[in-house]
Amino acid sequence: MRKTRTKNHPPRMISPVNLSVQHRPLKGALLRKIGGVIDTGRFILGPETQALEREVARRSGARFALGVNSGTDALVLALRALNIGPGDEVIVPDYSFIATASAVMLAGAKPVLADVEPETLCLDPRQAEKCLTKRTRAIIPVHLYGQPADMTRLRKLARSTRIPLIEDNAQALGATWQGRPGGALGDLGCLSFFPTKNLGGLGDGGMVLTNSARLAARVERLRQHGENPKYYHHELGLNSRLDEIQAAALRVKLKWLSRWNSRRRSIAGQYNRAFQDLPLTLPQVRPGATHVYHQYTLRLANREALQRHLREHGIATAIHYPLPMHAQPMLAPLAPKSRRFPISTRAAREALCLPVAPELTDAQTRYIIQAVRAWFRA
Ligand SMILES: *Cc1c(COP(=O)(O)O)cnc(C)c1O
Repeated sequence: MRKTRTKNHPPRMISPVNLSVQHRPLKGALLRKIGGVIDTGRFILGPETQALEREVARRSGARFALGVNSGTDALVLALRALNIGPGDEVIVPDYSFIATASAVMLAGAKPVLADVEPETLCLDPRQAEKCLTKRTRAIIPVHLYGQPADMTRLRKLARSTRIPLIEDNAQALGATWQGRPGGALGDLGCLSFFPTKNLGGLGDGGMVLTNSARLAARVERLRQHGENPKYYHHELGLNSRLDEIQAAALRVKLKWLSRWNSRRRSIAGQYNRAFQDLPLTLPQVRPGATHVYHQYTLRLANREALQRHLREHGIATAIHYPLPMHAQPMLAPLAPKSRRFPISTRAAREALCLPVAPELTDAQTRYIIQAVRAWFRA
């Protein structure tokens, strides 16, 4: 039921992502590449994966890139490569997708939750510092929604404490910090190619980036049953490799990433200009950073009402994330009762993500703007 009639009324629901529209112009190229993989008969860690690793490494300014099964596995492998396991603590932001914390637990270590910055909702370096103990073995900043965390402060903290930094760059491939791409700013960087990420495959996939030959060799061994050479197993590893069909598809899509990220930025810019005068918190970009808007996240007290209004006007929105980590049933036992997380707690109540995927048309963007503004006028 649509109450308000607006111009450019789209016939169907506008969803946060529409992968069939995204893939329409690529379908021929994707099918050709997949056919090529079928013809070679090599499906795991073959030439497509190697080429993708080279291409992503070059774009990220990393010396090494290793294709793995998922972003979650990329984090687990990065932690394992640093010998992190039982008895160790790893600092993670209290506001992120669960995988940032579950990867720490899958590696056998304990995630220590730190609150986020009010402006960007990325890990607050001051809060991270307060969480340091003798057991801290790594810090995992998340480049949330597509913008790098405060890598200036975090790198300084890491240097002064000699604690490694693992970037969770699952949402921010293509974003930069002081002109340098995220993912190679710490000791290891982790990417996800989950289909809805800025660069998504046709299934699961991920990658570990590093400038360290030693860590790269370790990840390479760990992703393949701790094996080197074949059938000689040095340590307990995983079966976590990128497959050739995903790598081939990702190579086709990688060529579009810059254009898609520009498009996301352009849509976000239109939203920013149109919503400037409204009583809500718009996404803020840290000086010196570029944002690739994996999500365009508004914050407002009565988001459910706006969400309902938009749904009634054919616009689906998303809430990333409805719970801070410390309130997740899975993590609650780990969060010390004495620690407060005012910023992430509030963000979880207020965040509302508007569609910002590159396949959104100008007409749809204008329509969303009108619908948001109409709600505030009512
Ligand atoms: C998507 C995501 C992951 C996990 O990636 P998968 O490929 O889904 O395993 C990790 N961290 C963040 C912040 C993510 O958004």
